[in-house]
Amino acid sequence: MFVRVAVNIPTDRTFVYRVPPKLEADAAPGKRVLVPFGGRTLAAYILELMPATDYPETKDVIRLLDTEPLFGAADLLFYQWIADYYLQPIGKVLAEALPSGINPKTNRIFRLIPHAEPVSPEHFTVDEMNLLTFLQHHSEGVTGAELGRILPAKALKKALRTLQNRNLVVVEDRMKQAGITARKEKWLIPVRPSPTGITLTVRQHDLMQLIENKGEISLGALRTHMLFSPALLKALKDKGAIAVIEKESLRTSDVPDRNCGRTQPPTLNRDQQKAILKIRKKLDVPAFSVCLLHGVTGSGKTEVYLQAMAQALCDGGGALYLVPEISLTTQLVDRIQGRFPDLDIAVWHSDIPETIRYDQWKRLLRGEIRLVVGARSAVFAPVRNLKLIIVDEEHDGSYKQDERTRYNGRDAALIKGKLNQATVVLGSATPGVQAYHAAQSGKYTYLSLPGRVENRPLPQVEVISMAEERDASGAIPILSSPLLTAISESLTGGYQTLLFLNRRGFNTFLYCPDCRHVFTCPNCTVSLTYHGETGRLHCHYCDYIEPIAGTCPACGGGRVIRYGVGTERLEKEVRKHFPQAKVGRMDRDTVSGRGSREGILRRLEKREIDILVGTQMITKGHDFPHINLIGVISADLSLNIPDFRAAERTFQLLTQVSGRSGRGEVPGRVIIQTVNPGHYAVARACNHDYTSFYEDEIALRKAFSYPPFTRMITLHLSAIHKDQAEKDLAVLKADLNHLRRQERRYQYIDVLGPTRSPIEKIRGRYRWQILLKGREIGPLHDLARAVAGLEKQGTLRIVPDVDPFNFM
Ligand code: ADP
Ligand code: ZN
Repeated sequence: MFVRVAVNIPTDRTFVYRVPPKLEADAAPGKRVLVPFGGRTLAAYILELMPATDYPETKDVIRLLDTEPLFGAADLLFYQWIADYYLQPIGKVLAEALPSGINPKTNRIFRLIPHAEPVSPEHFTVDEMNLLTFLQHHSEGVTGAELGRILPAKALKKALRTLQNRNLVVVEDRMKQAGITARKEKWLIPVRPSPTGITLTVRQHDLMQLIENKGEISLGALRTHMLFSPALLKALKDKGAIAVIEKESLRTSDVPDRNCGRTQPPTLNRDQQKAILKIRKKLDVPAFSVCLLHGVTGSGKTEVYLQAMAQALCDGGGALYLVPEISLTTQLVDRIQGRFPDLDIAVWHSDIPETIRYDQWKRLLRGEIRLVVGARSAVFAPVRNLKLIIVDEEHDGSYKQDERTRYNGRDAALIKGKLNQATVVLGSATPGVQAYHAAQSGKYTYLSLPGRVENRPLPQVEVISMAEERDASGAIPILSSPLLTAISESLTGGYQTLLFLNRRGFNTFLYCPDCRHVFTCPNCTVSLTYHGETGRLHCHYCDYIEPIAGTCPACGGGRVIRYGVGTERLEKEVRKHFPQAKVGRMDRDTVSGRGSREGILRRLEKREIDILVGTQMITKGHDFPHINLIGVISADLSLNIPDFRAAERTFQLLTQVSGRSGRGEVPGRVIIQTVNPGHYAVARACNHDYTSFYEDEIALRKAFSYPPFTRMITLHLSAIHKDQAEKDLAVLKADLNHLRRQERRYQYIDVLGPTRSPIEKIRGRYRWQILLKGREIGPLHDLARAVAGLEKQGTLRIVPDVDPFNFM
C-alpha cells in the first residue's frame, strides 16, 4: 500500500510513500505519518491511500503519529480549496488549520560509529582529529549546533563529510517529543471473571470494593475517595484482581458556569419572526443556501442567530458561529451558554491555549462538541454534521488574514457551507457591497430587520463642515463648537460620550519649516508619529523608535513643526475643555495586555468614564445604554485610503460607530466632522440610508469595472535591494507579457502595473504591485500562479492577494 502525503514546505507538490505491511491496517487519510524527506525526518499528512503507484522509487513511511484521523474527507476538500483559491501549499494550510505544536520535531545527531577501526592521528587533519576526539567523549551523539562551537561552519562541513565517507561518523535524526500530545490518565478496572483462590487484606478488600462499585475509576478520582498507598494498588494488580489501563483525558476551554444565568429567549418581534421562519425553512432541507440578514444596529440580529442555532442543534446538527473580534466572544459565549446550558461549547480563537484546542479538535471530530464560537480561525474547526454557519458582521475587515496562511474567514465559511450542504447566515448592519449585490440578484435570501428592537429610534446624525470652523487663533480646531456644546450637554445630563479618531499617538506629522525636511522612518516610507507617553517618535509600520530632536537633522534649523492629531492629543484637548469629566482612552497603546480592553469597557459600563476617546476599537459590538453622544473627529482619514473600497469602508465605519449610541432609553446623537461633507458615503451614513449608498456605490463599481463586476488578484511584490529588484521586475513584466501572448484566455485579463505600492517601503522592503483584473477567476488564478512561479528567477518575493467574492 502507498500513501499520498502533504508536507509543510513551500511547494505545490504532494509526495508518495510506501506503507510497510505492519502499518497498513492503521494507515488512514487524515492521520499524520513520519517520513524521511531529503535527509530529514518530517511529519506529513496522509491525503489518500493508494493501492499502487507508478513512482519507481518510493521510500517507506517510518511510523504513524495518530491513532485517529485529524480530518475527514470533507474537511480535506475544504482545506484543499483554501490552498487552491488563495494560492498556497496544501501542507502549509494543513499545518496551520490543525492545532499547532502537535508535530514532533527532529534533532539531527552526529555520532561516532562504535567499534570502528582504531584512529591514528597521522591519517587525519587537525580539524578531523578535533572532531573525533570530541565525538569520542560524547558517545551518545551531539547536535550540529554543538559541533559548530568547535569548528567554523565550512571547516566543520568538510571534516564531517570526510569522516562520514570513511564510515566513522553517522548522522541520524532523533525525535524530540511533540509540544502537544494527548493527555493520558491511569484507570483501574476489576478483572472479570474475578480471580479465584486469592486472599485480600482488609485494606485491599476495601479498595477492591470501591473499584468494583464504580465499575472502573481513574486514579485521580480514586484519590479523592480514599487514601491508599501505591503498594496497595500494586498488590491488587499482582494478585490479578485489577488491571491498570491508560485512557486519554481531554482538556476544555473555560466556559461560564452553566447553572448560572439560564436565560429565556425574548418574544421575537414581527421582523425577527419572519427572518427566523425563512432560516428554519432553509435548515429543514439539507442543501447549501445563504441568507443575508440585514438589520440595523440594535435590531436583534443576535437573537435571530440564537434561535437559528437552537433549531440546528436540536436536530442533532452542528453549528459554527463566527464573530470578527476575539474580545466579542466572551460576552457572546455567556449569552449562548445561558441559552443552551446543557451544551458543550468550544470557544475558538488564537488566545485559546493550543493544548485545549487540540483536545477540542478531537472532541469535535468525535461529535462530542457540536457548537463552535470564535474568530476567523474557527472556520477550520472540524464540526461534524455541520448544518448552520453564522458569520456576524460579515463586512468586517478582520475576517481577512494576510499573514501566514492567507484566507478570508467569511468567504471560507461560504465554501465550507457549500461542501457541507449547510445554511450560511451572513449578518450585518452594513453588508458588503458584494453581499448586497448577491442578495439583489437572488443568489442570497434577503432578510431584513429595518428597525431597532422596541422601536428605539436610530440616532440623529449631524455633519460639521470643518473647512469653515475656526478656533480663537484662526486655525481649524480639533473639536468644532457644535461638538463641544454637545459634549457639555451630554455631561450635564449625566450621559456618556464616545469620540472616535482612527489614529494613535500625539502628533502624526513633524517637519522642519526651514528646509521642509519631514521626519520619516528609515525602514518605511511613512512619517513618524510623536507619542507623548514615551516622548519619542514611533513608526507604526515597524518597531522603529527614535528620540525627538530639538533641531532639524537635515539643516540644523532650530524649529520643528508638529501637526496631525492622534488619540493622545485628542485626549489632552478633551481634558483641557472638560477638566471636571472622567476621560478614558482606548487604542493599541492603552490596551496591550490581555483583558485590558475588557477593563476599559467595564469602567465604561460602571460609568467610571464620562468621555471615551479611541480608535476603531471603540466602534464595534458593545452595547451601553448610557452613551448618548458619538463624535467622529475626522471622517476623512478612511476616505483617503488608496483603495476602491474606501467609500464602502467609510460608510460602514460611520454607521457602526453611530450604532453605539442611543441603545438604551435615551435617544442618541452623532456628530461627524469632515472636510468632505458632500461625499456620498458621509451623506448616506448621516441619513441611515444603506440602499441609496449601495446604489451610488454600485454605479461607480460598474463604471470602473470593479468587483462585483470583475474578479481581482493583486500581486504584492517586494525586495530588499531596489536596483536588482527593478531589473527583476523588468524581466517579470516581459515574462508576463509573453505568457499573455501565448494563451488566449489570458488576453482578456487586464494587467495593471507593476506600479509602486502606495507605501513604497515597509520594514526595509521596497514594494510594488500588479493588479490582475478579469471576468473569470480561473484564468486569473492560473496567470497569478505562473507569475508567482517565476519568483525563483529573481530577488522578488511575491504574495498574491485574492479578492473576496460570493461563492455560489
Ligand atoms: P444586534 O445583534 O442587531 O445588534 P441584539 O440581538 O444584540 O442586536 O439585540 C439588542 C438588544 O435587544 C439585546 O439586549 C437583546 O437582548 C434585545 N432584544 C433582541 N430582540 C428582542 C426582542 N424581540 N424583544 C426585546 N428585546 C430584544
Ligand atoms: Zn518603519
